[in-house]
Amino acid sequence: MDKQMVFDMHRNYYMPVFARYSLVLTHGQGPYVYDSEGKKYIDFLAGIAVNVLGHAHPKLVAAIADQAGKMIHCSNLYYTEAQATLAKTLAHLSGLDKVFIGNSGAEANEGAIKLARKYGKAVSQDKVEIITAEHSFHGRTLATLTATAQPKYQHGYEPLPGGFRHVPFNDVAALAAAMSDKTCAVMLEPIQGEGGVNIPDKDYFAEVRRLCDKFGALLILDEIQTGIGRTGKMFAYEHLGVKPDIVTLAKGLAGGVPIGAFIASDKVAAAFGPGDHGSTFGGNPLACAAANAVLKVIDDEGLLGNAGTLGEYLVTKLKALKDKYPDIISQVRGQGLIVGVKLTRPGRDIVNKCMEQGAIINCTAGDVLRFVPPLIITAGHVDEMIAILDRTLATVQL
Ligand SMILES: *Cc1c(COP(=O)(O)O)cnc(C)c1O
Repeated sequence: MDKQMVFDMHRNYYMPVFARYSLVLTHGQGPYVYDSEGKKYIDFLAGIAVNVLGHAHPKLVAAIADQAGKMIHCSNLYYTEAQATLAKTLAHLSGLDKVFIGNSGAEANEGAIKLARKYGKAVSQDKVEIITAEHSFHGRTLATLTATAQPKYQHGYEPLPGGFRHVPFNDVAALAAAMSDKTCAVMLEPIQGEGGVNIPDKDYFAEVRRLCDKFGALLILDEIQTGIGRTGKMFAYEHLGVKPDIVTLAKGLAGGVPIGAFIASDKVAAAFGPGDHGSTFGGNPLACAAANAVLKVIDDEGLLGNAGTLGEYLVTKLKALKDKYPDIISQVRGQGLIVGVKLTRPGRDIVNKCMEQGAIINCTAGDVLRFVPPLIITAGHVDEMIAILDRTLATVQL
């Protein structure tokens, strides 16, 4: 099909909620994707931190094909080996105890919010408040967009669900002032992804944990973007020296097959009983088999170490570009393979020009280039992307 036809069909039949780039993608291989005209791109967006194994990883493809040939879906009225295996693996990896599997990030957070409310109400009927951070991103359902403290996601959807309070990120005093015995949970991203790759001070999360303990509130960490190896550890909180009461996952977990999960300690999970939560598709054997394959490949191929090493390499290369283009780049920040480049101007033109030259990157929060490539990349792939970015920055009008 001609690409103009695809654009036209989208315009005529798809709800106009996405500002898309003029590209029809057909397939991928490793860290590369191809468009409908056969042009190849190095992919440093990876479906927004989703394709952790790159595209068409043979082990993931085989696991999906094998499971699809047996059973794609049954119902949570029955047991499956794939779901049991994934629950056990996630509990072991997280150091937490009980897992629920859904289909997306927003659903994972929605479930975590429900669990925190149930847990809080068992202590006291008014222990229902959830505190989140400005510039956060937690999803697009009504509860999660209310948790998302960015007016642009909330405008037009009022009345919003009650019980959410927002504080500046990385501000212990503001959090302390907002907390009370009514706080049932504090929900934060370890690194704010969508909000611009915002990395808090080293001690912030230890203080957050201390405040949560003081007020009997749960710490919910939204690791939908930072989890599954992105920062060089399976979970970003392993860098922070704190343990959450609930952690949420999605993006990278099944390498691109839709999935979401929340994991809680036994003490917290005990607030849920039969009938308290559910999902038709959640935890289906296809998605679980894909996630089991992803977690095995991450382990077999040493991808946590690779994310750490290549992240440092990427940051070094980007800092060299900052030195070369100090009027365009003001800061480079990241951990593992979630890296942000703060610009002195909007980033969309740079993203477009890189695309023309064969590199897919992303801009978030208006002026932050975000790099969340597959965890399988090599130094050669970094060099390839950096060369294109370098050529692009050289053409930016000052
Ligand atoms: C992407 C993202 C979500 C939402 O996930 P969806 O699958 O789009 O619902 C929530 N939280 C964070 C931190 C994310 O990056």
